[in-house]
Amino acid sequence: QSFQTLSLSRPVHRGLSSLGYSKPSPIQGAVIPIALLGKDVIAGAVTGSGKTAAYLIPILERLVYRPKVATTRVVVLTPTRELAIQVCDVGRKLGQFISGLRFGMAVGGLNLRVQEQELKTRPDIVVATPGRFIDHVRNSPSFQVDGVEILVVDEADRMLEEGFQKELTEILSLIPSKRQTLLFSATMNNSIKDLIQLSLHKPVRIMI
Ligand code: AMP
Repeated sequence: QSFQTLSLSRPVHRGLSSLGYSKPSPIQGAVIPIALLGKDVIAGAVTGSGKTAAYLIPILERLVYRPKVATTRVVVLTPTRELAIQVCDVGRKLGQFISGLRFGMAVGGLNLRVQEQELKTRPDIVVATPGRFIDHVRNSPSFQVDGVEILVVDEADRMLEEGFQKELTEILSLIPSKRQTLLFSATMNNSIKDLIQLSLHKPVRIMI
């Protein structure tokens, strides 16, 4: 399989080439076509499988055509600030040929005011850790999440281990329920299953 068979747009193909990705990893080959259809996905995927691009590619594909009015349309939640920074980094490279595309971050440990200013401008994609994301939604009236179409929960198992259950539940209620949700987790246990019950609609399960 090559990325050509996934019929991606030209800017996304160029982004893939610039990162030196020539063919999809197994998780990418399985997740991308389903996510492109707008379906919810639960993917069992460990670090190193290529899971980041597995969700970033369909997201970018959705954002190739953007309305003139700035709206945050995608939220990616990660358990740690380090992972958030990495995801943003890969996303910016992959999305570099989509004109005007903007990323924002909402993570602990970075200056709150600076992030607030950035979020006010409604970046297309916000990569966040759960606690800081909620802080911003509660305290920055100009940061709106009512236009969010896609929510990614990356490393869901680790997020629950870090004790973010309450925050996650709150975020799920803040983001419009008419959305696409993509959930990635290396392991599946009962608390993940509860989270899935709560947050996904007829998900397609991909275990590789
Ligand atoms: P991840 O599991 O998302 O952390 O990715 C693991 C590593 O694989 C990262 O260094 C990526 O840059 C790399 N990678 C992801 N997808 C591909 C691909 N399709 N071709 C080559 N390398 C990839």
